[in-house]
Amino acid sequence: MNYKTLAQAQKEYFSTNITKTYGFRREALLNLKRALKLHEEEIYRALKLDLAKSAEETYVTELGLIYQEINFQLKHLKRNMKIKRVKTPLALFPAKSYVYQEPYGNVLIIAPWNYPLLLAFNPLVGAIAAGNTVTIKPSELSPHTAQIIQKIISTTFAKEYITTVLGGVAETTSLLQNKFDYIFFTGSPRVGKIIMETASKTLTPLTLELGGKSPAIVTKDANLKLAAKRLAYGKTINAGQTCIAPDYLLIHQSLVPEFVSEFSKAIKLFYEDPLENENYPQIISQDHYKRLLSLIKDENVIFGGKNKAQKLEPTLVQIKDQTTLIMQEEIFGPILPFLTYETISEALNYIKANEKPLAAYLFTESKRIKERFSAEISAGGIVFNDTLMHFANTYLPFGGVGNSGFGKYHGQASFQTFSHAKAIVDRKTYLDIKLRYHPLTKKKLKYIKKVMK
Ligand code: NAD
Repeated sequence: MNYKTLAQAQKEYFSTNITKTYGFRREALLNLKRALKLHEEEIYRALKLDLAKSAEETYVTELGLIYQEINFQLKHLKRNMKIKRVKTPLALFPAKSYVYQEPYGNVLIIAPWNYPLLLAFNPLVGAIAAGNTVTIKPSELSPHTAQIIQKIISTTFAKEYITTVLGGVAETTSLLQNKFDYIFFTGSPRVGKIIMETASKTLTPLTLELGGKSPAIVTKDANLKLAAKRLAYGKTINAGQTCIAPDYLLIHQSLVPEFVSEFSKAIKLFYEDPLENENYPQIISQDHYKRLLSLIKDENVIFGGKNKAQKLEPTLVQIKDQTTLIMQEEIFGPILPFLTYETISEALNYIKANEKPLAAYLFTESKRIKERFSAEISAGGIVFNDTLMHFANTYLPFGGVGNSGFGKYHGQASFQTFSHAKAIVDRKTYLDIKLRYHPLTKKKLKYIKKVMK
C-alpha cells in the first residue's frame, strides 16, 4: 500500500466513527498492553541490539512507563470522554454550553532512536485514548526496535486503524506529503523546524518534543554526595542519550574536588568498569560515537574519557572556554562538562542567556533558591535534587518551551493533546429575547450594558 492509499484508508476508517466509541478505545488500549506483554522478550532483544541496553533498564525506562501510561488512560477514559457542561453567561440566556473532546482524525507520530519504543508508544497510547487513527514512523537508527514496533502493531491492529511506516528522511518526507490531522514529532530542533515548515503548508496542528542543553546547578549547601550520585544516574542511563539528561553542570567553585570524587564513586558503584560492563549502553551509531569523541578531544577531561567498541566512559570535563562546541551543541552522550560559579545570580544568568531548555535541575537545600529558580528559569520541566524524575510522573504534563518545543503530553495532557476541545452552545427555542436583534436602539443598549459590563 503506498502512503497516499494508506492515509486515505485511515481517513475512511476514521469516518466510520468506530474509533470514537468508549468500548473500541478501551479494547485497543488493552490489546496494546497484551501485545507488549506477549513480545517482551523480543523487545529486550531488540533494545540490546540497538543500544546494548539491559532488559532491566529497558523495563524501567521504556516498557514500565508505557504500561503506566496505558493504565492512566484506561482509568480516566470514561471521565475524559464525557461531554463537559460549562457555565453560560446571562447574556446568552436561554442556553446550555458544553466542551466536546473530539479526536483530530488521522495522527502521524514521528519517533527518535534514543528511547525508540517508549517515544513511539507513549504518544500512541494518548492518540488511541483520544479516538484517533495513527501512523507511526519509528527511527531508522534503531532498526531492530523499529521492526518489533511494526510487528506488534501489524499483529494487533487493522492497518487502516494503526500502522507503521519504516524508513529515514526520504520515506518521512514523502509520508509528509499526505494531509494528516495532527503531527506528533519527537526529535531534534533542526528536524523539528523542517516538520513545522511542512505542516504549515496544510495548517496541520502539531506537537514538537525537541531537545537542547538541559542545565544543572549544584549550590554550596547541597547534599553533595547525593547530587553527584543522581547526576551520575541522569548522565549514564542510556549512556546519556536522553533528551532530559543533564547536559552541563554549574557548580559552586568550592565544591569541585569533592564533587569529582563523589561522581567517580557513584560510577564505580553503578558499573564498576563501564567499558567492561555489558549493562552499560553503547552509543547508537559510529557517527554519534565519533561526534562525542571529537567533543572531548581538546577539552580538559578530569574523569573518564576512555572508549572502546562504541562505548564511552562517563566523562567529566572542566570547562575553561565556553565557546567550544561542547558548550554549544546538545551533547547526547555520557559527558558532563562543568563550569564553576561564585554567586547564584551568575549561574542563573548563564542559563538565562541560552535557549530555553527541556529540563533544568537544581541541587540545593535552600527554599529561597528553589523559589528563585522556579520564578526565573524558563524550562520544559524542573526537578529539585534529582534528574529525569518529572518524566516518570504521569500526572505531570511533559514537553518543552521555546527551542525545546511546544505542546505537552503524558496522562491528562496526552488526552488533551490528541483531542480538539470543541465548543458547543445549545440555544433553547422556548424563548427569543429581542434585545440583540437589529435595530440596536439606544434603549436596547442601555439594557445590554447592564448584563455585559
Ligand atoms: P532527529 O530529529 O534526527 O530524528 C527524529 C525523527 O525524524 C526520526 O524518525 C527521523 O527519521 C526523522 N527525520 C530525520 N530527518 C528528517 C527530515 N529531514 N525530514 C523528515 N524527517 C526526518 O532526532 P534523533 O537523532 O532521532 O533524536 C535525538 C534528538 O531528539 C535530540 O535532540 C533529543 O533531545 C530529542 N529528543 C527529544 C525528546 C523529547 O521528549 N522532547 C525525546 C527524545 C529525544
